[in-house]
Amino acid sequence: MRAVVFERYGEPAEVREVADPEAAEHGVVVRVEATGLCRSDWHGWQGHDPDITLPHVPGHELAGTVEAVGARVTRWRPGDRVTVPFVCACGGCPACAAGDQQVCERQTQPGFTHWGSFAQYVALDHADVNLVAVPEDLSFATAASLGCRFATAYRAVVQQGRVAAGEWVAVHGCGGVGLSAVMIAAASGARVVAVDVSPQALDLARTFGAAECVDAAAARDTAAAVRDLTGGGAHLSLDALGSPATCAASVDGLRRRGRHVQVGLLPSPTGTTPVPMARAIALELELLGSHGMAAHAYPPMLDLVRAGAVRPDLLVTRTIGLDAAPAALTALGTAPGAGVTVIEPWR
Ligand SMILES: [Zn+2]
Ligand SMILES: [Zn+2]
Repeated sequence: MRAVVFERYGEPAEVREVADPEAAEHGVVVRVEATGLCRSDWHGWQGHDPDITLPHVPGHELAGTVEAVGARVTRWRPGDRVTVPFVCACGGCPACAAGDQQVCERQTQPGFTHWGSFAQYVALDHADVNLVAVPEDLSFATAASLGCRFATAYRAVVQQGRVAAGEWVAVHGCGGVGLSAVMIAAASGARVVAVDVSPQALDLARTFGAAECVDAAAARDTAAAVRDLTGGGAHLSLDALGSPATCAASVDGLRRRGRHVQVGLLPSPTGTTPVPMARAIALELELLGSHGMAAHAYPPMLDLVRAGAVRPDLLVTRTIGLDAAPAALTALGTAPGAGVTVIEPWR
């Protein structure tokens, strides 16, 4: 098969022929119809992810059709239209037994722990636990965008964040995951304050349902701006970017007993990020993390998408073939952009 391969971190990837993957006993091989390009792929290529071994094929936001099925798989057959969460669970550990597959103790992640979906085929583990059926009326490109940013935003807003109609929700960082969170919070009946340094990102946030916007490049204190706009602070606030500054601003922009959800990854040279804990104590704040979403939790999100209440398809701004993928991966470092690029390996 053809795949995007890199041999060394930070050096250009190339498209070349590699061996086809084989299905594990409990796994499947999926023919990749669409796969999203994500900043996590860029981090992996830069050598920021200890799970990766070289040479490597990136890609973790995928949808496609089942091509081959392992002997112990019972729920899936060749030809089924499927997607997966970026965290593939083992199905047997205590976290999985509790229904928390998103924090599985023996999780695998295509494009990180093994070769991913920037290829014509990808192998996926524990298919009965991890595959999600893609309805006929949902395009592969849209389905591919659900597994990482959209499902992560859904879990952060609805499940971890416990959003309620009428609440104020602040979203710090309006890239792919932040704009997804804006849509989901607005569709849940919340009033959304979007915060970003980019006027274009804020325009998109307004289009997707934000009631108020804070230009973080102009505001001296974004947390104070959020508190002003929301009559004392957001009920729920997300750091969808992942930086010490946006994490602190998210916590500082909450009202009493508000909930902060950390969505953006926080790579740090020291391994830790300062958090305003004094405020968390005094105001009895909840500080939560969010890490993808289990396959079994997809149906309510898919219902929202199929009803048109949220429009992940509008986040996909560009579709390219496999040959253009190495340059697009490189460009993520300098021009992350607000839109999502989807690769169609068979173009
Ligand atoms: Zn991703
Ligand atoms: Zn597990």
